[in-house]
Amino acid sequence: MKTETSRTRKAKLPEVAVPGIPVSHGVAIGLVYDTTEPPSEVTRRTIGQNDVDGEKQKLAGAVAFSRKQIGKLKTRIGILPEEAQEEIEPLLDAHLMMLGNSRLIRGARKRIEAELLGAETAVLEESEEIQATILAAKDDDKAGLARRAAEVRDIARRLIRNLTATPFRSFKDLPEGCILVAEELTPADAALLDPSRVAGVATEEGGTDGHTAIMLRALGIPAVLGAHGLTEATKRGDQAVLDGTAGVVSISPTTATLNAAKERLAAFAKERAKLSKLRRLPAETTDGELVELQANMEIPQELPLIAQAGAMGIGLLRTEFLFMNREDLPDEEAQVEAYTQIVEAMEGQPVTIRVLDWGGEKDMEALAEGVAPVHAGSNPALGLRGLRMLLKRSELLEVQFAAVLRVAAASGDGHVRLLLPMVTIPEEVRQAREVYDRVARRLRRRGEKLPEKLPPLGVMIETPGAALAADAIALEADFFAIGTNDLAMYTLAVDRSEVDVSHLYDPLHPAVLRLVQFATEAALRLRMPVSVCGEMAGNPRLTPLLLGLGLRTFSMNASALPRVKQAVRGLDIGDCARFARRVMEQSDPARIRELVAGFAEGITERA
Ligand code: PEP
Ligand code: MG
Repeated sequence: MKTETSRTRKAKLPEVAVPGIPVSHGVAIGLVYDTTEPPSEVTRRTIGQNDVDGEKQKLAGAVAFSRKQIGKLKTRIGILPEEAQEEIEPLLDAHLMMLGNSRLIRGARKRIEAELLGAETAVLEESEEIQATILAAKDDDKAGLARRAAEVRDIARRLIRNLTATPFRSFKDLPEGCILVAEELTPADAALLDPSRVAGVATEEGGTDGHTAIMLRALGIPAVLGAHGLTEATKRGDQAVLDGTAGVVSISPTTATLNAAKERLAAFAKERAKLSKLRRLPAETTDGELVELQANMEIPQELPLIAQAGAMGIGLLRTEFLFMNREDLPDEEAQVEAYTQIVEAMEGQPVTIRVLDWGGEKDMEALAEGVAPVHAGSNPALGLRGLRMLLKRSELLEVQFAAVLRVAAASGDGHVRLLLPMVTIPEEVRQAREVYDRVARRLRRRGEKLPEKLPPLGVMIETPGAALAADAIALEADFFAIGTNDLAMYTLAVDRSEVDVSHLYDPLHPAVLRLVQFATEAALRLRMPVSVCGEMAGNPRLTPLLLGLGLRTFSMNASALPRVKQAVRGLDIGDCARFARRVMEQSDPARIRELVAGFAEGITERA
């Protein structure tokens, strides 16, 4: 949504610092590459007479959604300097008007009816005609005409993007070293990023522990999400400094900002080199307690990072990547191939494969509207998510179980485990196990040599219900993996990826910590393996608290692992236990944060 006017404004404003949520450490200096461009090409699509109503509805839906997006942008530009606000606000109003009963919308509707065009084709062709008419007008104010034509082009692009719901696949052509700027990046978009080309990512939407943030951390790309006003404050080619630790994007930085960023970059490189020396050292506390540090994995591209980090296996393999950015479903063979590649790369280290956690923000085309549509309900986070969906569509679960069982049998070392997401009651685990046993029987009939004892079937503890019923669920499960991301979201009723409530998202809220403690103790009483695989596990400041609660296995994004190992190697379990007792007596999250910070300073001094 850039115009000539915003370009001129930039010349007057040497540096604009846009704050946001720091979600992935590091500093990036580069040129902005925005993704407000349309999908690279719109294939001309014609429709049949019977499709006219459907296409008109699609257009109406995209118009409503685009209005919502712009309305949201409007509420957020308050963060920009006043001068910029004065310029942007009328622009957004003009866009809103064009999404009303404008020539563009009326014309597109007419083209659907009269020319039998698909909605996106109708919008594109109508907008091109309007732009041509504007530019051909007899008016001396050529800059004004160009601006009006650009407004029509921009709003048409927004509509087309929303109509085609295309992830920004132009990602593969990103200029090397760019800072990618977008209103929003879905987890599926993030999965397409190449960390060797993208220096940093900044978006208007998003929260700390949403899947996009998790993906960016996994890829080691410095990132700031929830940066209100960002897309309006930048244009492609602007120089920018992105600070993923402090949570600021500085556009057209001053020399002082640039120099400071260069120093930070050098410091990061030095720290990385220091941490890499820990790779071969054990994660052992000062009093000799061994801690298992594993990696979470979202996409296979992470395998080299996981190896470099010295992880003791994969504690959470999110299999959603197999279902993203495609319109069909991966069959058993495709899944066997994908899991085999990962299990073999881990060379006998444990690999915990979680079955598909579809739903909530992890929306995938093939399931949302494609070959096997599932209706997640009006509140997807509370609807058919995770295991709930898989039990309803057990053919999906069967394929995944079969693929994992075959890979486990072929690897023959007993290190593959299966994990069930979004469990709330023991009955769900019992039902999943019935499917598991049935699949195993079928495979044996087919001649597969499965071991007598099937790979362990574990349960994610990520809802308050599961945490409080952990003692009952433990009787059905072979192990627990505590998912603190969803546990915090569901306990506090705060969407983990929603920027407007991100200030309330707090895994250190005593309610969340008490649930973690309750579930951990339920597992430990039965001597059942328990790990934490939510983002808390990768925060070295929280390592003492989690160790003090009795946890000894943590799974995290690979780039966080060296810092957590460094923390473990400076800790004494007795100190951690005393510290955890103090924390658990507190009822105020702010006080808990203070205690955590205080203890962490102590560690830094000791190290
Ligand atoms: C969690 O909820 O903490 C978790 C690890 O699962 P995900 O982030 O994939 O929802
Ligand atoms: Mg989860």
